[in-house]
Parts: sequence; structure tokens; C-alpha cells
Amino acid sequence: MGESVVTPRTLKGTRGSPGIAIGLAYVVDRGKIKVPMRLIMPKLVPFEKARFRTSIHTSLRQLETALDREIGDDHKEILDAHLAWLSDEYMIREVETLIESERINAEWAVKKLLDQLIASIDAGTESERQARSDLFHEVGDRIIRNLMGAQQESVETVPEGVILVAHDFTPADMAHVDRTRVAGMAMDIGGPTSHTCILARGMELPTIVGLDHVSNEVQTGDVLVLDADDGRVYVNPPLAVLDDYQERARRLDEQLQELLKLKDVECKTADGVSIQLQANIELLEELGIMEEHGIKDIGLFRSEFLFLMKGGAADEDEQYELYSLLLRNLGPEHCVTIRTLDLGWDKVYAGMDMQPETNPAMGLRAIRFCLDREDLFKDQLRALLRASIHGRMRIMFPMISGIDELREAKNILEEVQQELELEGAAYSDNVEIGIMIEVPSAVMMADILADEADFFSIGTNDLIQYSLAIDRENEHVAHLYTPAHVAILRMIESTVKAGRAAGIEVAMCGEMAGDIQMTMLLLGLGVTCFSANPPAALKVKQLIRKIDTAEARNFAKRVMALSSSEDIANFIRREMNKRYPEIFANHNWTI
Ligand code: PEP
Ligand code: MG
Repeated sequence: MGESVVTPRTLKGTRGSPGIAIGLAYVVDRGKIKVPMRLIMPKLVPFEKARFRTSIHTSLRQLETALDREIGDDHKEILDAHLAWLSDEYMIREVETLIESERINAEWAVKKLLDQLIASIDAGTESERQARSDLFHEVGDRIIRNLMGAQQESVETVPEGVILVAHDFTPADMAHVDRTRVAGMAMDIGGPTSHTCILARGMELPTIVGLDHVSNEVQTGDVLVLDADDGRVYVNPPLAVLDDYQERARRLDEQLQELLKLKDVECKTADGVSIQLQANIELLEELGIMEEHGIKDIGLFRSEFLFLMKGGAADEDEQYELYSLLLRNLGPEHCVTIRTLDLGWDKVYAGMDMQPETNPAMGLRAIRFCLDREDLFKDQLRALLRASIHGRMRIMFPMISGIDELREAKNILEEVQQELELEGAAYSDNVEIGIMIEVPSAVMMADILADEADFFSIGTNDLIQYSLAIDRENEHVAHLYTPAHVAILRMIESTVKAGRAAGIEVAMCGEMAGDIQMTMLLLGLGVTCFSANPPAALKVKQLIRKIDTAEARNFAKRVMALSSSEDIANFIRREMNKRYPEIFANHNWTI
């Protein structure tokens, strides 16, 4: 028998979410499956029908397994729709009739029926038609893949402990990743501040992006060690490397357990100044992660994930349910900052009805999209206001670039309030209205915006992207993307000053807020409210408790006297290592 030799290889990319993962590769094939067409002999018709029935059973079982897992309502709804279709007697009968009358193989019969059904969809809005067509495609794809014994494209049902490998994973894919089954992720493309990586960090899922050809170079079943801190993937490594990483993973776990002991202690500086710590979350399910890490308020709820998860627009009542649940779960003493839809660019749901854009990051995204699709925006505002009676809600508009946009959004909000009053529907009149500061023009006029906003939250992910002209998603310029840039630091400083002068809160919810490399500097610049994914927030708390605010101010003054990013990064590295060696000794610096 021939022996196959596996050669160890190392691939280099960029850290998307920290940590170490060891497991077998599971390459997610995103290519379209080529459906074979065969004519069959009459005596094989019963066999072909039986094959078709078996693939229906397999598909049903796969979906039922996915449903058995703890998943959110929206995901459940999608799976339920798939299940209903798979059990549809009409569909089953029609495929069997095609097999018999045209004497074709089951794969081709399924494809033929679904093509006919898709062509005949004519009722409903454009997005409803698209959603229906997607449903047919997805269900058909599953049946055909099972008929052919092909791997499922979906990430929802994968073997336990695998490392997912693909050319790319979208934020919508992430909504379907089961954290209890997946140990890590590796992708050909992407930058570390992409929404996919932000989600991976929230899930504590070690992830490496920008690996170029990992999806071609790795095969399902290869042994992988993902050193996400260092951005390296070891493919079929020698035993010594495996042992070493097993030991490192064990130590990391010990550190995490230590960190979790801080979950209930107050977030105060060493000299006793209280600092607010809030969570960035996307899905209702993450309330559990918040609780595990002792974070009680939400500084950023990315509401568009309901739409991405569902694969379609959520109506007012669905949104109302979700927001009410969030508020009720956190209780009236904790604030829930819900950001209105930041759709467009990389966050597009199936059937969203968007025209192609040459430059979508600067296109119809976030508040611009909402002002353009007033019906969708109003649905969300109605849902938000109706849910506001269940707790302490704050509404936040994303990507505000000027006062006119803010006024327009607030006018629509007022119209919605009037509508609700006429209908006799209750809403709280205590809802604060804030904005994200993530476009450079908003920084330049923060004093003006502060007069008409109740709070600011600095979104450094986009602020860096738009100020330094660096695409967050592009691995080729990822090395230029740095928070340690004097322009960015000045913007943060001036936003904090403008907010203070107007007496409004200035929080930060960009990734910089959860980056311990920047915590001392941010404190020194006057940031007093940090919103980050719960695991990162706990690390920030650990550090804040060691920092003296007067020292932080002095530290910031010294940093602000520097002009090059390299000097700033060197200064931060040196000083943090010296002052807090217990935290930074083995730190993998990214600045
Ligand atoms: C940001 O831009 O910093 C932010 C928090 O928003 P998002 O990452 O969702 O674009
Ligand atoms: Mg943003």
C-alpha cells in the first residue's frame, strides 16, 4: 500500500482574533456545485427515487441537529422554513414525477424543479421574491449535495473541534458559527478590524485573516495549529510543535480563569476614579457572554445583525421583541445603547435590493441607507420606541457626518413619536439620542453636534479607516492601519473636549476601547467610558485597576508630544512593559 507523507508547512497571516487553536481543518467549500445530468434506464427509476428520499431524510436530520443546538429565534426561523420545504409533499411528488417522466437522475430533477419554481416567483416585493428564491436555492443545494455525498457549504453543522478554513467568511456566516463546535478560523483574505473579526473576538474564537491561499493549501482533515496571536498557521506540524502549543493553550486557559475572578470587582482606577465598562454585542445570545464576564450595560448593540442572521428584513414586531428582550434582561438600572441599522458595504442581507456601488464603504451605508429607505428606518424607530418602556434605552445613529443628517434622523424620530401618540402606543420620553463619531467631519464639528446629541461614542474602526484612507477589510494595507497615529489621537482628544464642554458623555466603542495597549493613553486623554466585546472589556478592567489617573494624564501628554506612529508605538510598548510587566511580559504587540 502506498504511503502518503504529510509535509509540515507554516503559513503567515494577520491576527484577526487572539488565542491558540488546535484541531482538524474543515475547509468550507464556497464554490457552486456542478450538478450532473444523466438519463437513466427505466428499471433504475425506483432506485433513483429511493436515493432522492434518502437525501431528503439526511437533509432533515442535519437541520434537526442544527435546531437542537441552542440557537437564536431568527436562526431557528430560517431552519424552520427549510424544514417545512424539505417536508413539502408537493415538492417531493414533483421531483419524483420528473425522475419518472423524463428518466433523469435525482440531482437534475431537483435542479429542474427548483429552477421552474424560482422562475415562477412573481408575488411580493423585490426583497420578498429574493428571499423566496434564496430559500429554494439553499434547500436545493442541500438536497443535491447530500445526493452527491458532497460537503455542506454551510458552517452550521460541522464536526466538533474543527478549525474552519475558507477564502472568506462574511459577518452573516459568523451568525451561524457554533462556538461550541468550532475551535478557530483561518481565511485567505480580510483585515483585523473587519466585522467578521470583531464578531470572532466577541466569541473568543482564535482567527487569522490575510493568509492568501490557506483555503487551497489546506485540506479537510489536516492537523492545524493556529497561533492567532502571532498570525501563524502550522499545517501538519511535527509533534514537538504540537506539544509546545498544547502547553501554551493550557497556560492561556489558566490566565483566562484568573481574569474571570475580576468579573464582579468594581471598575475603578488605582486612585479610585470610576470608569464605565460596557459591552459591544450583536446578538441576543451574547447576553450570556456578558454575564460570564460581569459586564452589565450595552454600549453598542449592532442591530443590523438581526437582519443578517435572518437573511432578510426584520419587521417592526420582530425588532420590538428583540429590543424588549434586551431591555428586560438587563433591567432598568442598566443602559442598552442600540445603534440603528448600519447596513450596506460589507453588511448586506440576501435580497437587500442594493445597486452595485464602486466604493461601498463610502456609499449608501448606515444612516445614509436608513435616510434613503425611510420605511425601513421608521419600522426600526417604531420598534425601538415601543420597546423603550421596558428599561433604559439609548438610541445611537451611525456614521453621522454633519448636523443636517442628525437633524433629518431626529425629525423622522419625532414623526414616529407623533404616529405612536396618535395610535395611543406607549413609549418612554427618557430615551437619549446619541451619535457615533466615526467620520472625520464629525470630529471637526463635534462642538456643533454636541449641542444636538445627548452622547457621543467614538467608533475608532471607521474613524481610522476614513481618516487614514485605509480599507478595514484590505489585507494589503492592514499594516498601515494603526490606532497609534497622531491624527487619530488628536481626534479622540478633541472629541472628548467637545463633549465635556457641552456636558455630554463621550464613550468609545471602536476596537481601540478593548485594546489594552491603548487603555492608559485613552484614560489620559479623558475617555471614561469603554465599550468592548466582553472578554476584551474584562482585560481592560484588569489594567484600569492598576492605573493612576494623574500618571495616565502625564503619559498621554508625553505621547501627544510625539509625531511619528513608530515613536508613539515604541513609547507605549516600552512604558507599558516597564510599568505593568505582569500583564505585558508575554504580550504580542500589534502596534
Ligand atoms: C466603529 O466603526 O468603530 C464601530 C464601532 O462600528 P463598526 O465596527 O460596527 O463599523
Ligand atoms: Mg463603524
